[in-house]
Amino acid sequence: MSVRVRIAPSPTGNLHIGTARTAVFNWLFARNQGGQFLLRIEDTDLERSKPEYTDNIVEGLKWLGMDWDEGPFYQSQRLDLYREKVQVLLDKGLAYRAYETPEELSAMREAQQARKQAPRYNNQHRTLTPEQIESFEAAGRPAVIRFKIDDEREIKWHDLVRGPVSWKGQDLGGDMVIARASSGSDVGQPLYNFVVVVDDADMAISHVIRGEDHVGNTPKQILLYEALGFTVPEFAHTPLILNEQGAKLSKRDGVTSVNDFREMGFTAEALSNYMTLLGWSAPDAQELFSLEEAAKLFSFDRVNKAGAKFDWDKLDWINSQYLHEQPAAELLPMLMPYWQAAGYDFDADTDKDWLLPLAAMIGPSLTRLKDCVELGHFFATPTMAFSEKAKDQLTQAGVAEAIEAVIAAIGETPVNEPADAKSVINQVTKSLGVKKGLIMRSLRAALMGDMQGPDLVESWVILHRRGFDQQRLAEAAAVAAS
Ligand code: GLU
Repeated sequence: MSVRVRIAPSPTGNLHIGTARTAVFNWLFARNQGGQFLLRIEDTDLERSKPEYTDNIVEGLKWLGMDWDEGPFYQSQRLDLYREKVQVLLDKGLAYRAYETPEELSAMREAQQARKQAPRYNNQHRTLTPEQIESFEAAGRPAVIRFKIDDEREIKWHDLVRGPVSWKGQDLGGDMVIARASSGSDVGQPLYNFVVVVDDADMAISHVIRGEDHVGNTPKQILLYEALGFTVPEFAHTPLILNEQGAKLSKRDGVTSVNDFREMGFTAEALSNYMTLLGWSAPDAQELFSLEEAAKLFSFDRVNKAGAKFDWDKLDWINSQYLHEQPAAELLPMLMPYWQAAGYDFDADTDKDWLLPLAAMIGPSLTRLKDCVELGHFFATPTMAFSEKAKDQLTQAGVAEAIEAVIAAIGETPVNEPADAKSVINQVTKSLGVKKGLIMRSLRAALMGDMQGPDLVESWVILHRRGFDQQRLAEAAAVAAS
């Protein structure tokens, strides 16, 4: 059997981390099996589906490296096929029109609740007489289409993650609505559980891999496969993603969409790497791998049944591992958007001579790309306000002379390379007969305006190439002399 899997997002919001993780598992399985991975946009909910969400989903999946072999298919373009299949069930007597008004249905639910019964449709229009149907039609009542569910049936499947699962027909809520209300012989808009079955069969999907929240839909769908004469696929329901408190990750956790993670400064490689570990583990406990490497190792026996706790520390660690390995030329374009958003006037085309050393210098300190804003602020403006600690340093004995000596020395030896900075520092240390530490601390205070920050020698070279070092030293000299 050739393996064909799909991710089937509904474009009712930006690409959700749960959907992205499901996409990753589908992709890993497809690549592991040499099968196909399809993208299907489930946009039949016309009120909640928006084209901008479709764009966001498509773009987000691409960004994560989830290349698909077929699609995107759009359910909104396939309505004729669904209506045709609804008609098949009507013709076979496996589905029927039900004419209750919304008020009648709520009254039914309320009566059940009053009797402390679970709400369900009581199948009362399954057996309407031709006369009753005629009178509803004559009254112009719209009808939904319901699929008959046998209460006595037991529906079983062997879930690739959860093992044997079984449901009783009587727990499925009565005959299910498969198409919205319409009048006369029209078929109204077909609904999720129905169209997903028609599509998965039509697209020859061999394995339905989706979130655990769909487990309750699977028995209904299995009954529909059978009724339509389709082969039932394999199912794998992947564990939910939980927050650190063990509850389902939700909007309240601040981040839910792939966009949010992207804006926070996670790279696509790190995020997709981390998502492979949300519910799956490699046989040798390896944690850092490309999607291709993970695909070679992936199997459902190593997917957990229990919810997968979102571990920020691990995601940060993985992200930092990726960032620390990036060569400066690769890293720079990843940092530029954050610097630009922070208002720094860095230009990747004209400023490469100092931007590349800057990227190389801060790369090993980054956990998230966004950290470059904090680490880059020393280089954003010609002058820096001096922190209290820097002022203390600048006003110590001997510092004014030291800074004057540095200003004189760089007149001879501009600090264009790390070796220039080292030679200026050694020269001034020697000529003043002071400790090197005093010169280093004073330079840090003068050039960076603070006693903490990135490597001093590398920073100085960057400031010099940027044309800022002389001005900063002059301002520091004024503070030191005051
Ligand atoms: N459109 C459904 C969702 O976004 C797809 C569920 C499925 O994979 O069957 O949850």
